[in-house]
Amino acid sequence: MNTSVIGYPRIGKDRELKFASEKFFKGEIDEAGLLEVAKNIRKEDLLKQKEAGISCISSNDFSFYDNVLDTAFLFNVIPQRYKDLGLSELETYFALARGYQGDKGNVKALAMKKWFNTNYHYLVPEIDDDTVISLVGTKPVDEYLEAKEFGVDTKVALIGPFTFLKLAKFTGNKKISDVSAKLTEEYIKLVSILASKGAGCIEFDEPYLVRDLDSNDIDLFKNIYSSILSNKNGVKVLLQTYFGDIRDIYNEVVKLDLDLIGLDFVEGRKTLELVKTNGFPSDKQLVAGLVNGKNIWRNDYKKTLSILKEIGITNVILGTSCSLLHVPYTLENETKLSDDYKNHFAFAEEKLTELSEIASLFGTDYENIEVYKKNQSLFEGRKDSEDKEVQAKVSAITDADYVRLPAFAEREKIQKEILKLPLFPTTTIGSFPQTQDVRKNRQEFKKGIKSKEEYVEFNKKKIAECIKLQEEIGLDVLVHGEFERNDMVEYFGEHLNGYVFTEKAWVQSYGTRNVKPPIIWGDVSRKEAITVEWSKYAKSCTNKPVKGMLTGPVTILNWSFPREDISIKESILQIALAIRDEVLDLEANGINIIQIDEAALREKLPLRKSDWNSEYLDFAIPAFRLVHSKVKPETQIHTHMCYSEFTDIIPAIDAMDADVITFEASRSDLQILDSLKENNFKTEVGPGVYDIHSPRVPSVDEIVNALTKMRAKIEDSKLWVNPDCGLKTRGDEETKKSLINLVEAAKKIRG
Ligand code: GLN
Ligand code: ZN
Repeated sequence: MNTSVIGYPRIGKDRELKFASEKFFKGEIDEAGLLEVAKNIRKEDLLKQKEAGISCISSNDFSFYDNVLDTAFLFNVIPQRYKDLGLSELETYFALARGYQGDKGNVKALAMKKWFNTNYHYLVPEIDDDTVISLVGTKPVDEYLEAKEFGVDTKVALIGPFTFLKLAKFTGNKKISDVSAKLTEEYIKLVSILASKGAGCIEFDEPYLVRDLDSNDIDLFKNIYSSILSNKNGVKVLLQTYFGDIRDIYNEVVKLDLDLIGLDFVEGRKTLELVKTNGFPSDKQLVAGLVNGKNIWRNDYKKTLSILKEIGITNVILGTSCSLLHVPYTLENETKLSDDYKNHFAFAEEKLTELSEIASLFGTDYENIEVYKKNQSLFEGRKDSEDKEVQAKVSAITDADYVRLPAFAEREKIQKEILKLPLFPTTTIGSFPQTQDVRKNRQEFKKGIKSKEEYVEFNKKKIAECIKLQEEIGLDVLVHGEFERNDMVEYFGEHLNGYVFTEKAWVQSYGTRNVKPPIIWGDVSRKEAITVEWSKYAKSCTNKPVKGMLTGPVTILNWSFPREDISIKESILQIALAIRDEVLDLEANGINIIQIDEAALREKLPLRKSDWNSEYLDFAIPAFRLVHSKVKPETQIHTHMCYSEFTDIIPAIDAMDADVITFEASRSDLQILDSLKENNFKTEVGPGVYDIHSPRVPSVDEIVNALTKMRAKIEDSKLWVNPDCGLKTRGDEETKKSLINLVEAAKKIRG
């Protein structure tokens, strides 16, 4: 049985690409230096896969920033404002990715969005009426030839034209139908060039096919591919899909003149059923995505081999469910983690071994083969990950636990009486500037250079200063500043049983930014009080209300590698119970305003709208309620969300039943306000009045202006005044000035 990998991580085993790119941005190395680093990464990645015996290895899966941007660049989808800068090709590319500010001009970057249901972000191509789509680049050809030089005959991976068009933003009058024929023509040119250079197989990645498709989409897809496939030039074409099943178009796809079709059997709930009930054409090869490209657990060979048997076709290639881009490089980097853990994990490199092993077991009497037996022993018992007490608590949850009483309106009245906040109360989202000294304090404590006492002392000093500053500025609801936190998920994970941390398991989030998600190893519970001491101390510094600051269960789960032996729902409930302990502890210690952040609430929302409720919202939203349902009526619960689309899930957000929600709004033109009004949103709201991503200080007038617009849609008694998000990336000076203006603006409106 042959094996296939859709794509490999490309940031370098030790994040070499990140460091080289950042040096290039600062002018510390030249273009040649950066190209050299990139070439070495590509070489190492290709040879790794070859050594592991993978039969179908991709080239052109590399990117300096993002593959969608590469595709835009390849076909000249480059807005004129970037061309006008007159930069070199690579610099122009980075200008689209990161924006450009310098002696040649000033342009913002292209918009960035989450890549389907992952935490990877792509750049949104912009097609305007002047865009002349034309094959101007050579990246796929160059990288194919380069791989050949390294001794690897690759399939050439391309983002397919259908997905590209569906993800692009049309900024003028033109629509997809105005440009699709031309784009198809240019793809055909590329195919013929690749054929002439000796490429044997081209992979078209079309993940958009796993979304809900209408008849226009299906026609568009068929038009594009019938043209491409009648101009194959002897090259084999693989249509690769991932992140779900292609139920809306399966029967059309199998009729096309494709040579190979790649389907996702991990996230595609209906994939097996589609193949079994509709059959799979005997003149094509199926690439069965069975090794999970998104999670880090060892593959269960028994399950995989039985699915392969059930598929019932002999002409199968074993593949990854999606690109391995979404998992870290290798377990070899993890020197501090014991084998008891590591044996259960497979990062990209280990997944290559899995592919080869499963392929070699297929069709044999594998039950008696050593690698199979060894694999199965991993699934026989992971007893240390289980906590009977936690499991019992989850089973004991009743419907009443999801309901906070009394109902919102009554609580709102009680809280107004007790808190006595002015109209348009002012607050912040939680973090204050994480200046050099703050980070140094944490690092030195972690390394053992600083004692616990010294570390705590420093943070207390920072908290006291932060409280004093907020009092001087005149804010109404204060925060402690979050100086103890590196990251809003890692910090909580470190205080929870059931979590495991890695040293170097970096995954690309966007461009040069990588994240290191913790792993949920077992049943989750709270080890000890997490934030109580900090919040208590902050409260002791002032007579004003201080808001406790927590991360919610959905966000904690969504930014971790989840378990596969229990459901996401079960894990979220366990985390919810752990965070509930913290909420109740804060309340018992006199903290009567508590914010539970759910920045990543939307992240695991299914790609198909028809699945939104049953597959996700129906348990994610109640899980949030579980966290706060037991607090007293006078305790005010806040939540916070940012940088995602909310308009279409407003009713679900209201159903979280928080008392106040603050969210990012200044970059989205306040569109969300209409949706709040339409949906009769009951929760009090603080739409951010200024963008915290820039050091620019917003003027009083600007904030008054934003508030005036908000007042047109939100009742005065429900409107809060706050920035978009946490202030941790800002400097001290601009933070102070901005908040002074914010308070001033609130006062003006009150007047
Ligand atoms: N409370 C967090 C902060 O202020 C929220 C961060 C976020 O929304 N991403 O930093
Ligand atoms: Zn935020």
